[in-house]
Amino acid sequence: MRVRFWGTRGSMPVSLTWRDLRDRLAQALVAASGRSLDGIEKAAAFVERELDFALSHTFGGHSSCVEFETGGDQYFVCDMGSGARPFGAHVLARQSGRPATVNIFMSHMHWDHIMGFPFFGPAYVQGTKLRIYGCHAELEHALRRQQEPPSFPVPFSQLAASIEFVALAPGETREVSGVRVTPAPQFHSGDSFGFRFEREGKSFVYSTDSEHKLEDIGETQRIVAFFRGADLVIFDAMYSLAEAVSVKADWGHSSNVVGVELCQMAGVKKLALFHHEPANDDAAILRILKDARRLEELTRQAHRLEVTAAYDGLEIDL
Ligand SMILES: [Zn+2]
Ligand SMILES: [Zn+2]
Repeated sequence: MRVRFWGTRGSMPVSLTWRDLRDRLAQALVAASGRSLDGIEKAAAFVERELDFALSHTFGGHSSCVEFETGGDQYFVCDMGSGARPFGAHVLARQSGRPATVNIFMSHMHWDHIMGFPFFGPAYVQGTKLRIYGCHAELEHALRRQQEPPSFPVPFSQLAASIEFVALAPGETREVSGVRVTPAPQFHSGDSFGFRFEREGKSFVYSTDSEHKLEDIGETQRIVAFFRGADLVIFDAMYSLAEAVSVKADWGHSSNVVGVELCQMAGVKKLALFHHEPANDDAAILRILKDARRLEELTRQAHRLEVTAAYDGLEIDL
């Protein structure tokens, strides 16, 4: 399976400002002084290889939307944050006129996870099949309501795609077009659900908008069992540990430190920090990543947990 991130920001999309761009360009020009970068290819290679991640990349960007490819012709995606707009454009380009079948797994209905749906191009194409899976009874209502007047010009009922809502039950594994999916309840305002996906011996967990209280042993064991042995866990690391346990306790989100601890206990191979705080710039997210990697090194036992921070456009092959 290939996991592709279309939206990695929590709560609200953010973008770089012209000042951010100006500062990056200025730093890049200083770094390049004295180099003969006489062509776009040489310059691109220099940016790729020699500039810091914080200069050459940005965590962006769109709110939650994570696709995974199985090699078949159906599409699979978790959440419809603003990343659903570029994801939809990708689907339309790949289909070149043929209607798509898209399986959509919804963690919950907070606005940052549904706001991209009205801009999801395939929903406007006749013959497209959208199957929307989730554990919340109000899923359909939430998606319909955000397109009601006066909030949006096109009502949900006018979408050309055929749209089916499929209720999933927490803890029950179900097969969806060759993928086994198991939802698990998570602690979050209004409840959220993580999903564990398994196919041909590979597995990954999409676990966003979830607060963990490690002092609750039973609850920790439940989450560790849910993560157990996964090739990848996409984890709500909105805060640093200090924020998560103090000012932002009970806000329904988790931290880099808790992500490392849970994944180590569960023998996970790779952890992707996700749902980045909108107030954090790229440097702050890199600090959170660096701290997580340092903690992983210090507390490593039998095996190494690879830690990364998800950004829009990142692809991970399992
Ligand atoms: Zn969220
Ligand atoms: Zn939420």
